[in-house]
Amino acid sequence: MPLSNAFAEKLTAIVGSGGVLTDAADRAPYEAEERGLMDSNCDAVVRPGDTETLAEIVKLCAAGKVPMVAMGGNTGLVGGGVADGGVIISTERLNKIIKVDALNHTMTVEAGCILADIQDAAEAKDCLFPLSLGAEGSCRIGGNLSTNAGGVGVLRYGNTRDLVLGLEVVLADGRVWSGLGGLRKDNTGYDLKHLFIGAEGTLGIITKAVLKLYPLPRAKVTVMAGLSDLNNILALFDRVRAACGDRLTAFEMIAEIGLDLVVRHIPDSTDPFAERHPWYVLLELTSPRSGDNLRGDIEAALGDALEAGEIADAVFAESEAQTAALWKLREEIPAAQSREGGSIKHDVSVPVSSACALVARATAAVEAEMPGIRVCAFGHMGDGNIHFNLTQPEGMDKQAFIGRWGDFNTIVHDIVIAMGGSISAEHGIGLVKRDELGHYASAIELEMMRVIKRAFDPDNIMNPGKIFEFEAP
Ligand SMILES: Cc1cc2nc3c(=O)[nH]c(=O)nc-3n(C[C@H](O)[C@H](O)[C@H](O)COP(=O)(O)OP(=O)(O)OC[C@H]3O[C@@H](n4cnc5c(N)ncnc54)[C@H](O)[C@@H]3O)c2cc1C
Repeated sequence: MPLSNAFAEKLTAIVGSGGVLTDAADRAPYEAEERGLMDSNCDAVVRPGDTETLAEIVKLCAAGKVPMVAMGGNTGLVGGGVADGGVIISTERLNKIIKVDALNHTMTVEAGCILADIQDAAEAKDCLFPLSLGAEGSCRIGGNLSTNAGGVGVLRYGNTRDLVLGLEVVLADGRVWSGLGGLRKDNTGYDLKHLFIGAEGTLGIITKAVLKLYPLPRAKVTVMAGLSDLNNILALFDRVRAACGDRLTAFEMIAEIGLDLVVRHIPDSTDPFAERHPWYVLLELTSPRSGDNLRGDIEAALGDALEAGEIADAVFAESEAQTAALWKLREEIPAAQSREGGSIKHDVSVPVSSACALVARATAAVEAEMPGIRVCAFGHMGDGNIHFNLTQPEGMDKQAFIGRWGDFNTIVHDIVIAMGGSISAEHGIGLVKRDELGHYASAIELEMMRVIKRAFDPDNIMNPGKIFEFEAP
């Protein structure tokens, strides 16, 4: 049911006329869904500039049982920001870095800060905020928190959940919970912040966060290795970790087709190797000590790997530009894939020790189902998270391929579950995987989630329909 004029006027009275968007053209960017797979429409977009204003909006919506969808950068990949009427509450004006406490190694920020701005603000104080992912120039920290984003530094620093010491949250009835202590030790009952991290906006709206900072790396080495055998990827991982310890910050795997598609479709990208290899690993080592002999240690480890036949070749980045060029080959794979035609995506994880076996098993299964399908597997091998993406067979109709999305999800997810893995490693559930979660999660898991939802949002107005089906009593 569209919002009444009276309701829209009340919203405007709270946020001001510039803070409420009701025209279709103004709403359109907020209703766009990253993958273009789902329709989204809201009656209004509201853009509060502080927690108090956001809380007033939530109170008004709660009184009228108007559904609310929180929105950060709208870069989520599972339809978590899709609205079905009601209001979208954008955090884009909640974009202040409130405080950097270099001694406590913390930073307090508003939820709408862009991730790259947070990284820059930390660096300006000689510190590192280590969350790093392809969308960092536009995603916002509230969205990162609400999806418990992963990215390329999880191996060394953990997920977003591991990088947070406190939150401020507007609850579904408009009350504000302030848990911004910034304590590294606090065992006073349930750790409430973790309920909101990864909740995809279904329990409340995050408005501020205290983030953990780390020493700024003073030394860095980025290397790409070419391998002939999938199974050697984990042998290499084991070898490099033994040699370099937790200075190994990123360990990303790329199938040959991934590199091939990037080089073909993405301008200014080049294959750094003299010849092609079936598999590649992009690895990065960092250290807070400028004198750390990262280069010597990794050269020795890779020399041993070459001798043992684990790798066929390796290319070192010799400048920041070359580092960026190597990372571009990894980060641009999804964009290159979409230029090649239809792609069906899986963001899955298994124990690291099973990651190669998963790729082999799932590849055999999807190739048996559709000869000619092109498996473009890549991702965070060092933490067991594979983006097991499928590119359509050459010449096949794109829509006919996309129409098989559900079938391939079942094939891949059945294997993942059988191997003790997860059907969503880092992107969340949203709408896209809601039914899958309903199928694979145990009854007791779903019941516990519904109990929590009922306690925090009994009227089902906070991002309704996401993660699992829930009906207000
Ligand atoms: C090119 C690209 C690369 C990516 N790479 C990675 C990657 O490596 N690792 C990874 O984990 N993810 C990755 N992602 C997806 C990732 O989840 C998002 O980029 C990011 O974490 C979401 O932030 P956002 O601000 O865009 O959130 P949005 O898309 O705006 O929102 C995501 C969800 O969080 C909710 N939400 C947003 N803000 C709040 C808030 N303040 N309070 C409560 N709920 C809120 C929304 O309702 C929605 O359910 C990538 C996406 C792209 C486009």
